[in-house]
Amino acid sequence: MSDLKIAVVGGGGVGKSALTVQFVHSKFLADYEPTIEDSFRRQVKIDEKVWMLHILDTAGQEEFSIVNDTHLRKGDGFLLIYSIIDFASFSEIPKIRSKILMIKEETSNVPIVIVGNKSDLEKQRKVHLSEAQDLAKSFQTPFFETSAKTRYNVDEIFFSIARMIRNQKFPEFS
Ligand code: GDP
Ligand code: MG
Repeated sequence: MSDLKIAVVGGGGVGKSALTVQFVHSKFLADYEPTIEDSFRRQVKIDEKVWMLHILDTAGQEEFSIVNDTHLRKGDGFLLIYSIIDFASFSEIPKIRSKILMIKEETSNVPIVIVGNKSDLEKQRKVHLSEAQDLAKSFQTPFFETSAKTRYNVDEIFFSIARMIRNQKFPEFS
């Protein structure tokens, strides 16, 4: 079985762990534990073939320390998460993306999906859907809003990045 390695990155408290645990274990993590970094595995079927997703849920990599995170280099693709109720986390997206490209020593050809999490908290929204769509379009990157709480689009983001990685790493299956 072939491996697809996904790193989940973004600012603190945006829901990286909650999205990962919801995807892997189908439960919502209500408690915030900012320091835990962990890796998870889940087998998935894409177009009738089974793949093993290795998911790295990162922690404490906000902005500047991310540069030195050598294990991030092992990610084949990245879920770049912000929170729709935290404008600062959205502002960091271009910087984090640049750092991923730097770490991977690429100019653009790294699988990335941009994700606006906490879509269930519509009343507290600080990031408009349209500005996030515009940003994703400028990076030619897929974009989803999600809720780790309600499970809205959770499978979609992991399958989207998994397919992008598969297409790049194993083009014979795409
Ligand atoms: P991380 O630092 O990015 O790993 O953030 P966590 O996954 O630990 O989430 C931070 C806090 O936000 C926790 O209290 C979560 O329960 C909460 N949270 C995460 N995702 C959602 C979501 O989609 N909706 C709501 N309402 N809360 C969320
Ligand atoms: Mg976390």
